[in-house]
Order: sequence, then structure tokens, then C-alpha cells
Amino acid sequence: MGLKIIKKIEDYKNFYKDFLYNKKIGFVPTMGALHEGHLSLLKKAKENNDVAIMSIFVNPIQFGENEDFDKYPRTIEKDIFLAEKLGIDIVFYTDENELYPQKQTFFVSSDSIMFTSRLCANTRKNHFKGVATIVTKLFNIIKPNVAYFGQKDYQQFLLIKNMVKELNMDVNIQMCPIIREEDGLAKSSRNIYLKDKERQEATILYKALKLGEKILTSSQDLLDNIKLAKEEIENLINSSKLLKIDYISICNASLLEEITKKDLEKKNSINVLIAIAVYIGNTRLIDNEIVSVKIN
Ligand code: AMP
Repeated sequence: MGLKIIKKIEDYKNFYKDFLYNKKIGFVPTMGALHEGHLSLLKKAKENNDVAIMSIFVNPIQFGENEDFDKYPRTIEKDIFLAEKLGIDIVFYTDENELYPQKQTFFVSSDSIMFTSRLCANTRKNHFKGVATIVTKLFNIIKPNVAYFGQKDYQQFLLIKNMVKELNMDVNIQMCPIIREEDGLAKSSRNIYLKDKERQEATILYKALKLGEKILTSSQDLLDNIKLAKEEIENLINSSKLLKIDYISICNASLLEEITKKDLEKKNSINVLIAIAVYIGNTRLIDNEIVSVKIN
């Protein structure tokens, strides 16, 4: 079948009942403004399922009051062109009237400090509650077998992975690697906000991750390395007048908590997450890397 654009929940439900109920559905939720990061997820959904579905919805409840909801790029025609080119079967392109027909009073949120006070949760209050709620709503509507999320938003991936497990949702969550520009900058819909000089200096983020990786994998004690890596990353980012640090976190990749001596006992290796968020002007950029570190 060719690309089908569905805007109404009711229309999707009817289509599902008639054609999709016995198919393996791969699903990619997005906010549109597609770039190669999104496309890599869509390709996986296409390759590994009977039907590949993408949603496009800029979700107001995951944006804070002073964030960029209004100016978030919306490029629907180009997005649909790209989806069609990749052979995506359905674009669920819906709006607030459909998804929030009245003021939302039920939400999905986590009490875990992983999602209330670590990394992005600190700066973006209620962000993950907004994400968990919209993803749950979309899962309930689309009924996917597999859903694809990018490592670019690693904390979001962990949120969804933990959510489906704890809430017994029958969806397999897959993480896809970060797609980058040639100079290392992670592709992001927000990169278009950057002015020339800001765009140049944004590459410092990737350089900082690589510097961190190099220090973490050197032969010294891991806890010493973590401390040093944090300092060096901080110095590198602060060497640019345009960048302002929101957070630098070097932590246990599965729990987002500080790595202690106890974590290293009886282990051959540990996955360490280096996660960085910076402001460049008014634009907030995030990036991360997971480093597998051998323990001596
Ligand atoms: P968004 O439209 O920003 O909500 O992103 C939709 C999905 O694309 C999320 O799962 C993101 O993690 C993923 N994504 C965004 N940027 C990238 C990237 N550079 N590489 C891989 N996945 C990405």
C-alpha cells in the first residue's frame, strides 16, 4: 500500500480493525521536522515489521512555559515527502483537538528520581510526565508491537523502557544510535535555531564527549577518571563564551546515578553514561555517549 495519512483517532481505529490487527506494527513517535536521526528510526521500523507507522505531533504538555513550543519547526510537507520516500505505510498526523479534546486530568508519571531530578528532569520540570503521557496515549491508539526511540534522548528512552515494564505494556522498546553531522554535532530539529558562530561552537559538545571517553578508558582508577573527565569537559565547554553549561553528568548508564566503589565490585565492566546539556544563546542542546569501561 502507498503512504496513508491519518488525522483522526477514529479513522485509525477503523483502519486498524480492518487491516492491521494481525500485522506486526513498528512505530516511531516524532514531533516532525524530520532529519536523518528520525529517518534512521523509520528505516528500522520499515525493515523489521509488516507495517511502519510514524506519528507527528508537537506535544504541548512536554514543553515548559519558557520553552520553544510556539517556534518549534513544523515542516509537514517535507516530512510527508520523506516518509513516502522511505516507504512508510502510515503517518498519524494529528493535533491537539484530537489528543487533548478537553483539559487533560490523567497523566502518566514516574516517582523515580531518575525522572524527577536527574539530568534533564532538573531543568525541564514536568517534561517527562508530558512525554510518558503522550507516548502512552499514542501506544493505546496505534497499538504497536515495537517502538523505536533514539539514544539522542537517552533519558527519554530509559523512561519509556521502564514505563512499559512497570505498567505491563505489551510494546517492545528499541533504542537506535545517535546520528551526527560530519563534524560530530548530533542531528536535532533544534539545530536550525543556531546562528553561524553558534553552529561552529556547538561541535564542542561532541569534542567534550570524545575527551570524556578518552579519559574514562585510560588505565587509571575509574572513579578518579570520572572526576577528571568532568573537570576537563567543564573546562572545554567553558572555553567557549557562547556555551553555558546546564549539566554535565557522568553516571551509571542504567540508573543515572553516581558510580561508587561498590558498583565496581565483582564486575568486569560497567556502562558509563556521559550526558551533557548546554545552552547556546536561547537554544538548549543535549548529547550523550555510553562508554563501556573495563574494570581492572
Ligand atoms: P523528536 O521528534 O525530537 O521528538 O524525536 C523523535 C525521535 O527521534 C526520538 O526517539 C529521538 O530520540 C530520535 N532522534 C532525534 N534526534 C536523533 C538523532 N540525532 N539520532 C537518532 N535519533 C534521534
